[in-house]
Amino acid sequence: VRVEYESEIAADRLPDADLVVAGDGVNSALRERHADHFGTEISHGRNHYIWVGTTKVFDSFTFSFVETDHGWIWCYAYRFSDDRSTLVIECSPRTWAGLGLGHASEADGLALLEKLFADLLDGHGLIGRAQPDGAAQWLTFRTLTNRTWHRGNLVLLGDAAHTTHYSIGAGTTLALEDAISLAGALREHPDLDTALTYYGQKRRSELLSVQSAARHSAQWYESLPRYIGLPPAQMFALLGQRHSPLLPYVPPQLYYRIDRAAGRLEALRRFKRWLGPKVARGVQARAGR
Ligand SMILES: Cc1cc2nc3c(=O)[nH]c(=O)nc-3n(C[C@H](O)[C@H](O)[C@H](O)COP(=O)(O)OP(=O)(O)OC[C@H]3O[C@@H](n4cnc5c(N)ncnc54)[C@H](O)[C@@H]3O)c2cc1C
Repeated sequence: VRVEYESEIAADRLPDADLVVAGDGVNSALRERHADHFGTEISHGRNHYIWVGTTKVFDSFTFSFVETDHGWIWCYAYRFSDDRSTLVIECSPRTWAGLGLGHASEADGLALLEKLFADLLDGHGLIGRAQPDGAAQWLTFRTLTNRTWHRGNLVLLGDAAHTTHYSIGAGTTLALEDAISLAGALREHPDLDTALTYYGQKRRSELLSVQSAARHSAQWYESLPRYIGLPPAQMFALLGQRHSPLLPYVPPQLYYRIDRAAGRLEALRRFKRWLGPKVARGVQARAGR
């Protein structure tokens, strides 16, 4: 394999190859060029988020919820190197507008966030990445799906093919699992079209439960007022259950009591398992962090 860095691939000038794997992320130019063929659908989450860095080194995965005059804003943070951590900061559109985060320059926005999360940051600053016009990179999460994942010898993989809300922390694993599955399909099926069809069908079906978990997890944060007033132990227990399809329909305290009882009684545990969520084991472990 010859790896090339800092080299842009033009979607209309692909090299002559047996197979072209488009792992070019959620904005995939290779996919966009044939969006109709792929049947791309994108839905936007309601909340605003920004992804920033800090020199504060967290020793464990950390959540922080802060109440402002305009509603709640929260973040989760984790270390990614010996001297840096990353934070995803999120809030509702009402809080975002009320705090003026939509109009603030990146520098002013980061200064405000540093003030709001001062206890968490311990005097450390936030590190952003402004847009060319100096605005901050506030986004809403895009959940992307594609009806089919290949066109001729071009095949999608990772975020180019599908995204799952960041709060389940699974996107990188899923992209690698796509690659493993694609390699397996190519080994098993000598005919390229058969292999790529098999790969797409298999992965789309394997992803259903994770996509459902991600949708419910995103909705949990969008429904924060439903949970934030609970005693902290209950609130965090339900945070760990945020991918459950049942939780939105059961009063939170009742759900909490059922969940506790299910931990003790085997019959109830089986009942709860039957109700869902039906999430792959590895993802559940990460989602529960
Ligand atoms: C806020 C947030 C937090 C997240 N947290 C987690 C987490 O904790 N754990 C986790 O597993 N996942 C997380 N994810 C998801 C994860 O980032 C993605 O699922 C994962 O990066 C997808 O990998 P990928 O290789 O498919 O795409 P990408 O990581 O987007 O890589 C695509 C690459 O292609 C390059 N590229 C694009 N176009 C071209 C071109 N024309 N020519 C050359 N190169 C090009 C890009 O520069 C990029 O390097 C998070 C996502 C977000 C938004």
